Amino acid sequence: MTVAENLTKMNKTIEQACRRSDRNPEEITIIAVTKYVSIERTKEALEAGITNLGENRKEGFLEKYESIEDQAAWHFIGTLQSRKVKDVIHKIDQLHSLDRRSLAKEINKRAEEPVSCFVQVNVSGEESKHGLPLEEVESFIEDMKAYDKVKVVGLMAMAPHIEEEEGLRAVFRKLRALRDRVRDKQLAHAPCEWLSMGMSNDYEIAIEEGATHIRVGSSLVG
Ligand SMILES: *Cc1c(COP(=O)(O)O)cnc(C)c1O
Repeated sequence: MTVAENLTKMNKTIEQACRRSDRNPEEITIIAVTKYVSIERTKEALEAGITNLGENRKEGFLEKYESIEDQAAWHFIGTLQSRKVKDVIHKIDQLHSLDRRSLAKEINKRAEEPVSCFVQVNVSGEESKHGLPLEEVESFIEDMKAYDKVKVVGLMAMAPHIEEEEGLRAVFRKLRALRDRVRDKQLAHAPCEWLSMGMSNDYEIAIEEGATHIRVGSSLVG
């Protein structure tokens, strides 16, 4: 399937999910996760109308960035080691994986402009998952005030690998409730309006539960 064909199908699915949940499709940003595919396929995605790209490793990101540069908005969606911050931070538009104070500190040291960051949350408490435990997120975000180059724009989570729909919904709802609480504090350094959740297998459900940014790889670009 071409990316354009996949995208047409996906836009229909998004529209339907939005209709069911009384939302406007324009609220949803599709991030095409290109970590599995070539530069050629990534360019095909841009030609199909994709404007946001996501990569989860520094090497893969830099390789694609070199030939695409600012023809797309770039999202870094993987765990970011502090020593790699300097190599990516000036090139990305959003970081989806802020998960520790040491990373915030390094961003603050290296960035020239405030960086839009999603705080990654380990909602399900699985040991294999990155992200802050739910109960630590609010105090973490309040502490981000100390770092003027870190702007908390939202929360991000990866759902556990469960097939059961209600379990997924429960995870997304917890993230959304937490987002609402943080947003309602109206912190200048943490508007926290967005929800980065939903991947190939669960983006429909994530949209019904309030996702504003979906990160889709395999079902969109391959
Ligand atoms: C790979 C990846 C995705 C996309 O996964 P698909 O299941 O291929 O859609 C989304 N988010 C993160 C953090 C990823 O690493």
